[in-house]
Amino acid sequence: MCGIFGAFSTKGGPVLEDVYLGLYALQHRGQESAGVAWINSGGNVHALKGTGLVHLALNQQQLASINSGCGIGHVRYSTAGGSELTNAQPLTATSSRGAVAIAHNGNLTNAPAIQNYLESRGAIFQSKTDTEVILHLMAHQSHKKRLDAFVDSLRKLQGAYSLALIIDNRLVAARDPWGFRPLVIGKRDDVYYIASESCALDLVGGEFIRDVEPGEIVVIGEKGIQSLRIPVKAPEKFTCSFEFVYFARPDSVIHGRSVYEVRKALGRKLAERAPCPDADLVTGMPDSGTIAAMGFAEASGLPYEKVVVRNRYVGRTFIEPTQRVRELGVRIKLNPIREMIKDKKIVIVDDSIVRGTTCQRMIAMIKEAGAKEVHVRISSPPVRFPCYYGIDTPTREELAAARMDIKQLEKQVEADTLDYITEKDLIEAIGLPVSHSCTACFSGSYMEGDHSDEMEL
Ligand code: AMP
Ligand code: SF4
Repeated sequence: MCGIFGAFSTKGGPVLEDVYLGLYALQHRGQESAGVAWINSGGNVHALKGTGLVHLALNQQQLASINSGCGIGHVRYSTAGGSELTNAQPLTATSSRGAVAIAHNGNLTNAPAIQNYLESRGAIFQSKTDTEVILHLMAHQSHKKRLDAFVDSLRKLQGAYSLALIIDNRLVAARDPWGFRPLVIGKRDDVYYIASESCALDLVGGEFIRDVEPGEIVVIGEKGIQSLRIPVKAPEKFTCSFEFVYFARPDSVIHGRSVYEVRKALGRKLAERAPCPDADLVTGMPDSGTIAAMGFAEASGLPYEKVVVRNRYVGRTFIEPTQRVRELGVRIKLNPIREMIKDKKIVIVDDSIVRGTTCQRMIAMIKEAGAKEVHVRISSPPVRFPCYYGIDTPTREELAAARMDIKQLEKQVEADTLDYITEKDLIEAIGLPVSHSCTACFSGSYMEGDHSDEMEL
């Protein structure tokens, strides 16, 4: 999972500070590296990239002082390629026909096949990211106009991509025909924006215009917006349901659905599906389960209480690379309020269980603090399958719910009871048609025909 942001001023005013701010609002989508690319008045591409959080990786003042009316940016959370700086985005390329910059959120499932094909014909890849195949596919069609070469390249891609590019001094956005990852368009005065999530538009004062449609390419130039179609048929859509469950910020709106409202609805469904009438109170895993816990409390009539305090200066535990650090991370991060916990029967709501570490640690902590019973409720179905579309979920062997059934998992994490919502509940709470939603990590139903096609270039 990553975040992308782009800005274009039709009057040529400076936009790079907006790109910095947009990335700041998308920080939750990736903390490994951040970068900004732009084209200067001489037509040369420039990029600033660094590792870590946006404010450490990039220099706001420096970006604010650069006079460029078109820029794109990226925050990275690696799913393909490691976390080193060579894999940081945007990627840039310069040829005799001009410069291109690209930022990508998603994961191309046929990238290895395309890369093998291109390498067998002499291409040399600079990074380990799947994104670079798009630049090589464009370069392979040197007889075509840049934008045409780009559109044709997209025809060959399988899997998830929401893209921001600079091509011929224009800002270009594209979303795969299946609509896996979110992408929105906004505007403030003469500046157009594209962003992974609408919360980034709020920060730069941009008005939300609309989502980039699945299979749409949006070209933003001095004359405004032009919309093109990716020439690929996709009767079914695969908008990622996990964005609603966990990834997106609650103040974002995806396909007209408020992420906050969906999370609350998930909590209400959970209370109906797996009630816990004898409990004294409901609490949420800070912060991933908080909103669903409020929905659970509302539907069940139980009081919502905050019983664990989070040190908000510690990053997400999951980002840490080793199991040991992950385990320590939970202890560093959370502290129980004993007075609220002692002798109580407590319902803890979280959005998901992946490896099971967070949940187990939380239960142990609450029990140590004197809870009489701890009942775990999860506001998504069991995660049993890995994601190949841009979310870093572990292999099946590491997924707790793939190795164990719910009763075994309940025992493993030492919960008094453990329960989930169903896939049907999830789809109903999101409110998008089932034929428009990806639930592959819950159901194992991956996109059909999602295999590496023979390349014909
Ligand atoms: P785990 O300890 O592995 O079971 O992780 C579960 C916690 O990580 C939950 O509290 C989720 O909010 C969060 N989470 C779920 N999926 C992901 C992911 N792919 N990346 C980062 N965090 C995640
Ligand atoms: Fe989202 Fe899961 Fe589908 Fe991946 S497999 S795109 S995380 S719903």
